[in-house]
Amino acid sequence: MITPQMKIDPDRCMKCGFCMSVCPVYHVDHIENHVARGRNVLLRMVRDNELTIEDDYRECLYSCLLCRRCDAVCPANLSPADITLEARNDVVEKKGMSWIQKIIYWGILNRRSLVARFVGLAGLIPGLSSKGGRPLHHLADMASFIPGVLSLPRMSLRPLRKRVSMVTSPPPDVKERGQVAFFPGCIFEFFLPDVGEDTVNSLAKAGFSVVFPEGLNCCGLSVHNAGDFKTSCLLASRNIEALEPYDHVITGCATCGSALKDYHKWFREGDPMAEKAREFSKKVSDFSEFLVKNGFNGGSADHCPTTVTYHDPCHLRLHQGVYLEPREILNSIEGIKYLEMDNADACCGLGGSFSIAHREVSLGIQDKKMESLKKSGAQAVVTSCPGCMLYLAHGIRRYKLPMKVMHISRLTR
Ligand code: SF4
Ligand code: SF4
Repeated sequence: MITPQMKIDPDRCMKCGFCMSVCPVYHVDHIENHVARGRNVLLRMVRDNELTIEDDYRECLYSCLLCRRCDAVCPANLSPADITLEARNDVVEKKGMSWIQKIIYWGILNRRSLVARFVGLAGLIPGLSSKGGRPLHHLADMASFIPGVLSLPRMSLRPLRKRVSMVTSPPPDVKERGQVAFFPGCIFEFFLPDVGEDTVNSLAKAGFSVVFPEGLNCCGLSVHNAGDFKTSCLLASRNIEALEPYDHVITGCATCGSALKDYHKWFREGDPMAEKAREFSKKVSDFSEFLVKNGFNGGSADHCPTTVTYHDPCHLRLHQGVYLEPREILNSIEGIKYLEMDNADACCGLGGSFSIAHREVSLGIQDKKMESLKKSGAQAVVTSCPGCMLYLAHGIRRYKLPMKVMHISRLTR
């Protein structure tokens, strides 16, 4: 039997190279130290004091998207993504984080109300706010503030919390089937509130009373992926407490969903939060997963593109195993024709801060996605992750493709 400890033991790597055949990073940069097989060798060298934790080693640890493609193919049943995460945590514990990471993770993401105030103020600066309720339109117009660095989406003047009620009830002609709590995540909350509203309204239209709970924080995934497990567990604890009264927690963000469903893995054995987190994770569903499970029955999508394709977010397909449900929804909506693109499950290249720290590789991954989108001939690409939406929109603008980017909830609202 493979124990959790065995899954993160780099000594068990057989050097077969299966991970290299699926790794989007290796397919672009061809550097073996940037893929699981090479990284495992470095980890063993550090453990055996043959290598120090210096910049090159760190660079190799952070050259991974944590997409989990290698987890799925590894014949040794290793989890190279978890091995990498543990190694990042080890570096953070021994060497600390950079000042910029401290500002972002401790100063910003750890302080939700401060973020809300900052975004509110920034939204007042002309050129930074998205007026006219068309944030998706503006996504393709992202401004690059620093040359060579990922450009930022425009901020919303009113965060999602100020746009939706504490409780959104089903429309009068729809019978109520139960109550769900909505987890918005930072991008819906501050940058794409229109999409957040679509998600809430779709759930209400499906017969659910949607609660927007107080006291929610960032899901903590970017902090966790950076290796700062202490801060990510703090954020997870706050979210678990805030969502304790609810039986169902739904998110329209694939990244947040993967974090919430994984909270039970974040806490070490013996931590008093571990059991609570295990129970909590069972309550979490992705938006399309929840709709299909509850008998989504199609409907029509007026004023929408007639041909659509779907991009699988890594955090939904590979982390949560959800990929049939969004297609089921798209195939059941009257008035649209679903076109499956080649390599629909290929990464968009974002990978959180990976797209900033490894700009060239990230764009190389994006190039492949854009070729698939172009070949699909669809008028819109639909997806289930606001992060993917931002990066797909960035690529579509770069490639000048005649295509929109949409969250799946735009078609179900
Ligand atoms: S697929 Fe697994 S066993 Fe094979 S080289 Fe990669 S990490 Fe090692
Ligand atoms: S998690 Fe993804 S990016 Fe990282 S080594 Fe595995 S396949 Fe490559």
